[in-house]
Amino acid sequence: MKPRVLYIEDNEQNFYLVHYILSARGFEVRRARDGREGLQATAEGPFDLILLDIQLPVLDGYAVARALREKEDLRSIPIVALTSYAMPGDREKALESGCTGYLEKPIDPATFAQSIEGYVRKAPEVIDP
Ligand code: MN
Repeated sequence: MKPRVLYIEDNEQNFYLVHYILSARGFEVRRARDGREGLQATAEGPFDLILLDIQLPVLDGYAVARALREKEDLRSIPIVALTSYAMPGDREKALESGCTGYLEKPIDPATFAQSIEGYVRKAPEVIDP
């Protein structure tokens, strides 16, 4: 089965690029356009990873990450924030809000898919008794 990513992003160009890169690597990408839509879209899961823009309408990425972590079934899903290089505080705040990690924008098309695959693999799987 294709790995599924929920990408919460309001910017068309960012979405288009990431969708292009991840689709080419065999991912299925579901988009949400603002924070609230992102939270609602988790009902269409399970997803293997949530990719989260920080600057979002309605609810920003920090609020979305905190809300996701409050849901029992989303406690351990990898959440990767997309943070602005120009705003260093974003990264610490993203981690404090419950994100697993962050990638800086603009993304590097040469390494992006591999980074995402790394986060998917690191996700806790079935625990051996
Ligand atoms: Mn944005």
